[in-house]
Amino acid sequence: MSGIQARLNAISAVINYKPSHAPLNFHETKPTEIFGSNVFNEKVMKDRLPKAVFKSLKKTIELGEKLDPSVADVVANAMKDWAIEKGATHFTHVFFPLTGMTAEKHDAFLVPDGKGGALAEFSGQLLIQGEPDASSFPSGGLRSTFEARGYTAWDVTSPAYILENPNGTFLCIPTAFVSWSGEALDKKTPLLRSNQALNIQAKRLLKLFGVETKLPVTSFAGPEQEYFLIDRNFIFARPDLLIAGRSLFGAKSAKGQEFEDQYFGVVPHRVLSFMMEVERELFKLGVPVKTRHNEVAPSQFEIAPIYEQGNLGTDHNQMVMTTLRGVAKRYGMICLLHEKPFAGINGSGKHLNYSVGNAELGSLFDPGDTPHENAQFLVFCAAAIRGLHQYGAVLRATVASASNDHRLGANEAPPAIISMYLGEQLADVFDQIKKGKLNGSKQKGIMNIGVDTLPPLPMDPGDRNRTSPFAFTGNRFEFRAVGSSQSIGGPLVALNTIMSESLDYMATELEKATKGDPKKLHTAVQSLLQKVIKEHGAVVFNGDGYSEAWHKEAEKRGLPNLHTTPDALPALSSKSCVELFTKYGVLTEAELKSREEIYLEQYSKTIKTEAALVVRMATTIIFPAAMRYQSELTSCCVNLKAIGHDYKMSALEDVTAKLRGMQESVGKLDKLLAGVEGKDAHAEAKYLCDKILPAMLDVRSFADALETVVADDLWPLPSYQEMLFIR
Ligand code: ADP
Ligand code: MG
Repeated sequence: MSGIQARLNAISAVINYKPSHAPLNFHETKPTEIFGSNVFNEKVMKDRLPKAVFKSLKKTIELGEKLDPSVADVVANAMKDWAIEKGATHFTHVFFPLTGMTAEKHDAFLVPDGKGGALAEFSGQLLIQGEPDASSFPSGGLRSTFEARGYTAWDVTSPAYILENPNGTFLCIPTAFVSWSGEALDKKTPLLRSNQALNIQAKRLLKLFGVETKLPVTSFAGPEQEYFLIDRNFIFARPDLLIAGRSLFGAKSAKGQEFEDQYFGVVPHRVLSFMMEVERELFKLGVPVKTRHNEVAPSQFEIAPIYEQGNLGTDHNQMVMTTLRGVAKRYGMICLLHEKPFAGINGSGKHLNYSVGNAELGSLFDPGDTPHENAQFLVFCAAAIRGLHQYGAVLRATVASASNDHRLGANEAPPAIISMYLGEQLADVFDQIKKGKLNGSKQKGIMNIGVDTLPPLPMDPGDRNRTSPFAFTGNRFEFRAVGSSQSIGGPLVALNTIMSESLDYMATELEKATKGDPKKLHTAVQSLLQKVIKEHGAVVFNGDGYSEAWHKEAEKRGLPNLHTTPDALPALSSKSCVELFTKYGVLTEAELKSREEIYLEQYSKTIKTEAALVVRMATTIIFPAAMRYQSELTSCCVNLKAIGHDYKMSALEDVTAKLRGMQESVGKLDKLLAGVEGKDAHAEAKYLCDKILPAMLDVRSFADALETVVADDLWPLPSYQEMLFIR
């Protein structure tokens, strides 16, 4: 047990933890009553808005029709009254800048009436548009400082809601964030644009199959959120966790996750209390959180909602992250959303379940029961195969970050190679299509699209391949490379746009081949599917994505393997990416460039901060502790000699060697850090990746080695063992 006060205090705080507020009571107030109670949802709007206004708004929300600005004043007024009844004093436009965070700036409803009193006011103008002082948000050169204005624009399709604080509440209005000339500065704007593109192209294709739908075709997102929880007191003795969100030092705990006793285990008591409050808060906000469980690593957990329309699902995932962080503190814990807070055990990801469809049609990635539906499904599926093959590098770039680099390809998460898992049965179907042996015998289950011999396609492919970054799971794809702290907005935008381009291609080809004659459709589909799978089947891989063999095979197949963020980000400004995004009006070339620049900058800032922390912690925390121990050993030697023992102590030599090693490696890192200056953004990121990261690991290796030999009562940092196993 540690003698260091900070560690002892942390441990005693964990042991003596008592809940700080009264228990929740789901019996008195039922979850069904709580759900959506803080949301300006359809029911509230129906009750409070004039019929015509309600109808007009509903059309915009459900059918994607243009917003009629003349309704804004009425809506604003109703919203304000509702919010004030719920105790709100302020309102805020909530937006999602490219940092991946959620941003808000509060304004009071209160305005002086000029007679010494005050009124509560909220106009349509204030609802529709805001002008936060946005000069400090990254814009990647899209906005010069003298034109620093950014505008927030009301997103009618994501409902306003109330957030609570013990001292009051405030109204939150989801918005898009753009520059004065309309360029996207956020994650939401391109997402809305990409949903529109998807709708147009999907409908063209559906029309060929004779399918009409009133509702827009849109993306659906079901993000499974992983996270770590550790006692908050440890953080105060751990500057790395406090500042960088991950441990930069720490010897492996004697026990890690090898017993597999954590996954789906009984949720620890305090953690369960935390989960229940998180869920209650999210219920109020209308976030349909559904599952909770222990994850693989010690102190790692997961929360997943029921999937929702992509834009709403994205906003809701931001709320999930904010709520996890906020509520954890109330339970004396800290929620780490970092992708790799602890070396040597699993990191956290966010599996993004993705599909395309709407409430009328369901998921268009759902095989369906009839051959006709199956043919349509296969076309959508082939579009995904084609898209992923062509633009895998673009999708890869959307999940690139300094923190996610620790996870991807580290035998716990999919490799950085983007491939698709179809499952045995579906892969076999496409194999048959490829061979063109489609008119074979019924008994053998060989298919002929559009004829009754088509075998029923799998609803759930049973065995799940956890090593694939993009896996078909019965009625959707699961994109597993997203990092736990990332917004799902980026990957969704890419997926929607890639799908739009591919659906456009499929529709165009089928339109050409059928020339308006529906009788020709099935033959046209057969040959198109064959062409697509022949040209793009290389992206399909059903084997072990972690294996060395796959890395070699993928290279043969010409699939990019972009290991790190500096390798991956340039895809955003590649010719094919620019063409893709501009063609569908999702992002302009300038917007793409600015994104690449901002993400590179974030990468570099992250590593520079971490490197500075490594130097500081090694020098001011670890070095003095190890030196104290060295000095104890030295006195011991001296004393032994004084009483006549000619004593050589190997422990002293060992500690001395390790200390020296650490000192030297810190010196090297320091020197290398001086070389960062004066490089352009790409070169800087590359330098940090190739030179600084390994040098940081060098320091760590000596420090971690010291941790295993220095007397525990002198070791200043809470150990992995303590942080991960004391709950
Ligand atoms: P698992 O861990 O087995 O993958 P989870 O229940 O943890 O399953 O998460 C699955 C997620 O996929 C949930 O958010 C679920 O709502 C979502 N999902 C289910 N069907 C679809 C669909 N058609 N489109 C998008 N997401 C879906
Ligand atoms: Mg899950």
